[in-house]
Amino acid sequence: MPSWTLEEMGRLGHEEVVFFSNKEVGLRAIVAIHSTILGPALGGTRMWNYSSEEEALRDVLRLSRGMTYKAAAAGLGLGGGKAVIIGDPKKDKNPALFKAYGRCVEALGGRYITAEDVNTDVNDMEYVYSETDYVVGIETSHGGSGDPSPFTALGVYMGIRACMKRVFGKEDLNGIKVAVQGVGSVGSKLVDFLVRDGAMVFISDIDKDKVSAVKDRCGCEVVDTKDIVTMDCDVFAPCALGAVINDDTVENLKCKIVAGAANNQLDRDEHAEILKKRNILYAPDYVINAGGLINVSLELEGYSKERAERLTKGIYGNLMNVFNIADKMNINTAKAADYIVETRLEKAVRANTMFLQRRKSILSNVHNRRLMASL
Ligand code: NAD
Repeated sequence: MPSWTLEEMGRLGHEEVVFFSNKEVGLRAIVAIHSTILGPALGGTRMWNYSSEEEALRDVLRLSRGMTYKAAAAGLGLGGGKAVIIGDPKKDKNPALFKAYGRCVEALGGRYITAEDVNTDVNDMEYVYSETDYVVGIETSHGGSGDPSPFTALGVYMGIRACMKRVFGKEDLNGIKVAVQGVGSVGSKLVDFLVRDGAMVFISDIDKDKVSAVKDRCGCEVVDTKDIVTMDCDVFAPCALGAVINDDTVENLKCKIVAGAANNQLDRDEHAEILKKRNILYAPDYVINAGGLINVSLELEGYSKERAERLTKGIYGNLMNVFNIADKMNINTAKAADYIVETRLEKAVRANTMFLQRRKSILSNVHNRRLMASL
């Protein structure tokens, strides 16, 4: 454990960081529980070939804190956590590794609930599930919720409509120009919603096959990857990478709205202020892209697709709230989202008995899910 760990945990507000090792199966994992103030810490397990333990630790600390903010902004009774498995997903993945990892998650007694993330999938989570109930994103036959990306796309679509209402006074997408960067799992489904509503959609992806598939299906115009960020449009929807709003791009954007699925869209906090000064409305990423989390979280209460859709549509109102606070306090929208989350967490700390009750009920539901699926 690097010497700065406790200091960094204190700075970012983490409760607990646990290192796991299993020599027999080659498992090296770190679980970071950022906050359980609102409920058990939920967040996926990322597998990555980190160049050092320090790099893995920094990543898991940053990501777990982000999950606290995303869950709180979505109004969920869940905290934030994340895990990383250090290893090459192409070479080191095997059932024994994920089973051993499942026993690590089990040992945390429900303080942390895991899910799939970058380089882990529903198959890996099935092995985790063979050792613990504290996992979501499992197969529908086991009471799981399946692929989260349609819900993330639905949330982003609702978010774009909220932004339209704010900027243009109407949420009608007919004829508006939207530039979608990245047409992977989320981006391609977002395009379907936009095209259905009559928007003029421009797409870009480094993967030519994905671009062709979406172009053939929806007839969108394809834009070069180097031009999509700064193209003249109403809405820029980043659905590929983080840090796409950075020193090189922020002054060159020609859109009125930035609203997309990608995590960590702003390279630095200051970019939110520059967007505000430039009169470009920014939909804070962790507010607009929470649909997948909302969907998966419902596994803990007995999964219902209809309820997942209804709650995901609530992202419209969550964003409106952010915009109203930003206006009222004359702050940028990223700061307004943080303010809403931090106020909610402070209030919950004052009424902390609620959490104990909710934790008990979530943990009993999660065990019931296995029972119900076996009937
Ligand atoms: P994905 O990997 O399926 O799709 C991302 C796409 O972006 C890929 O097709 C990739 O080729 C493309 N891409 C990469 N670099 C690019 C570039 N420079 N220009 C254009 N395209 C580029 O991922 P996804 O699941 O669709 O997620 C998209 C983003 O949304 C990610 O940042 C992810 O972290 C975030 N997100 C996803 C979910 C979800 O439910 N999947 C939930 C919350 C946030």
